[in-house]
Amino acid sequence: MTTTETGKTKSASTGQKKRKVADCRLFPSEKQCTLTIAGTEEEVLEVAVHHAVTSHGHKSSPELRNQIRAMLKDEG
Ligand SMILES: [Zn+2]
Repeated sequence: MTTTETGKTKSASTGQKKRKVADCRLFPSEKQCTLTIAGTEEEVLEVAVHHAVTSHGHKSSPELRNQIRAMLKDEG
């Protein structure tokens, strides 16, 4: 019997992640915030939620996350 060794090749992640943009000017806020956050959707969400909470006094919640996700735009 021969033992076949399955050479697992690490497949390089091919997906070029699209960057998303969160423009704070589009987000209703009292201060005239002009911040723009760009990155992958996950990165932007992470930072944008943090920003919304710390700078805009929003409550961190799944709802807020969804709201922000909804206003993300493709970078272009
Ligand atoms: Zn802001």
